[in-house]
Amino acid sequence: TAADIRCAGCGVLLQHEDASLLGYTPEKAMSREPIICQRCFRIKNYNEASGITLNQDDFLKLLTHVGSTQSLVVNIVDLFDFEGSMISGLPRFVGNNPIVLVVNKIDLLPKVTNYNRIVNWVQRQAKEAGLKVVEVVLCSAKKNMGFERVIEVLDQHRHGRDIYVVGATNVGKSTLINRLIRDYSDLDAELTTSQYPGTTLDLVRIPLDDGSSIIDTPGIVYKHRLTELVNKKDLMKLMPAGPIKPVVFQLNEKQTIFFGSLARFDFIQGERQSFTFYVSNAVTAHRTKLERADALYDEHKGELLSPPVKADLDELPKLTKHAIRIPKGSDVDVSISGLGWIKVNSQAGAELAIHAPKGVKVAVRESLI
Ligand code: GDP
Repeated sequence: TAADIRCAGCGVLLQHEDASLLGYTPEKAMSREPIICQRCFRIKNYNEASGITLNQDDFLKLLTHVGSTQSLVVNIVDLFDFEGSMISGLPRFVGNNPIVLVVNKIDLLPKVTNYNRIVNWVQRQAKEAGLKVVEVVLCSAKKNMGFERVIEVLDQHRHGRDIYVVGATNVGKSTLINRLIRDYSDLDAELTTSQYPGTTLDLVRIPLDDGSSIIDTPGIVYKHRLTELVNKKDLMKLMPAGPIKPVVFQLNEKQTIFFGSLARFDFIQGERQSFTFYVSNAVTAHRTKLERADALYDEHKGELLSPPVKADLDELPKLTKHAIRIPKGSDVDVSISGLGWIKVNSQAGAELAIHAPKGVKVAVRESLI
């Protein structure tokens, strides 16, 4: 057991019970030497995604390095922030290497979801973004869904090559790789790190049972994702704790919905219609009249309208307005990177506006659900 044993890295008392608390280490790791907590393990071996900020330049160098190898590229994206977590220009940088697109966090979709539909949707979105992939796989690294298929697909497309795993931060790359290590790695083999040209950042080579290896790379921070702009406390609120419970609002024109002080949805003009909000329930929605919205925000931001709380409001860029016209007969989502999306299935069309912190990506796409 972990009783009385301290981490050789940071000195914290080890425990096996709660992975979210300090000192957590899986029981299996107790046979490794030196015995360290999971946090130290991840810092040591993974450049701890949340702690490392890889800028665009270094990230592109990294991808170019991947392009100079003969490998299989696994790009992990987050289904809850699909547009925001896509790596633009990926195929250009990784050259002729095949790309497998692993779409994580499918546990956030409603239980009744038709996964084939989602795969087709992802394929169309990827194609539209100019990303040619050999395969799309859905999974949940956290809930262990679709993992067998991930392994199958990797085996199928690897042809003996190394696998480079790339992704933006917070997409679940560490969770997925930890699962690969737990289930498939050769725990006796050394994890080795190697530097890639022109930077001091480490790539982590993880040997698997079958003699192949997987190479983990640092994640890229995209400032166009709301999840990268908020603090840790609000980040937990932005990410749904379980399957998203969509909220339907029947709105008349000239009505506004606030999402805390994080974003605002204006229904400016159109027939009375319903809008379905796919946003974490920890972010409180507040309805008001459009004409009242500016004053309400000024009076109640950080209080009635939270998260964030008042003290954290200054960290967030000011809200900026995106005008959106929904044509007649549309079935689309308006996505706000990191916050979620609003499904608009509109016979009559609508004139909308989204107010989001400056820099946050707002996009209209074919509806996901
Ligand atoms: P990384 O920055 O890409 O390495 O991402 P992490 O593995 O650290 O995960 C980022 C956050 O997403 C953490 O809060 C994870 O618990 C969460 N997460 C990872 N995988 C999943 C998943 O499959 N489903 C859900 N709902 N959350 C996930």
